[in-house]
Amino acid sequence: MAIALVTGASRGIGRATALQLAVEGYTVAVNYHHNIKAATDVIAQITDAGGKAFAVRADISDETQVLAMFDSIDREGEPLAALVNNAGILCEQSTIENLSAERINRVLATNVTGYFLCCREAVKRMSFKHHGKGGAIVNVSSAASRLGAPGEYVDYAASKGAVDSLTTGLALEVAAYGIRVNGVRPGLIYTDIHASGGEPGRVDRVKSALPMQRGGQPEEVAQAIVWLLSEKASYVTGSFIELAGGK
Ligand code: NAD
Repeated sequence: MAIALVTGASRGIGRATALQLAVEGYTVAVNYHHNIKAATDVIAQITDAGGKAFAVRADISDETQVLAMFDSIDREGEPLAALVNNAGILCEQSTIENLSAERINRVLATNVTGYFLCCREAVKRMSFKHHGKGGAIVNVSSAASRLGAPGEYVDYAASKGAVDSLTTGLALEVAAYGIRVNGVRPGLIYTDIHASGGEPGRVDRVKSALPMQRGGQPEEVAQAIVWLLSEKASYVTGSFIELAGGK
């Protein structure tokens, strides 16, 4: 057995990914920030179906908490084979004139620094250089990294641009050490992330502009993540899967 860590696994895309990884036979480390009840529900769903999972609390933007989270994963006694950097935040819609430095830093702290910290700790455990057994990382980016989210979330889009660049560079850095690093770029996916701050009707407006005329489900993103982590993708690194309904 091997461990897969999914950050932000108590709801949305992270939750769907945790459930599918458990079916694939991973012991799932369910990272959560505040909502222990939601994390416990995910674990109960996994164990009821015969899988294995445990909860790990951490604010991924806080280095001390990330280090403690990886220490507690080490204590489980199974190798860490997979990391899904998924936990992310989207603030309310805003034009550039109203973006505060506090907000920009908050978005970058979770969406960029948090991904870096988790990648760093995962690499230390997976890399052949450090006598690890190898592994795979998937970074959840966004179609916004390509599209820019003008007038709405340019801070969020820029943070996801950094995730893309991290993915590309890290894939090259660790390819010789048994670690594959890939990304997914979801478009409009029906999760609670849209509950905060979008103007009324925004989701419908975005949906109707999509070639496929619909948003995606978290499970559709999870399937791509699980594939990228699997042996079926053994020759894939530094790649991105677009999950954006054709946009
Ligand atoms: P969500 O809001 O439902 O889930 C995000 C999870 O991350 C939550 O459980 C939240 O508690 C957790 N989280 C946030 N900050 C954290 C922190 N500092 N430390 C630990 N956990 C933290 O959103 P989602 O739609 O499932 O988003 C998952 C990922 O997918 C995010 O990175 C998001 O940017 C990306 N994404 C989502 C969409 C979409 O339309 N839903 C589109 C593109 C990309």
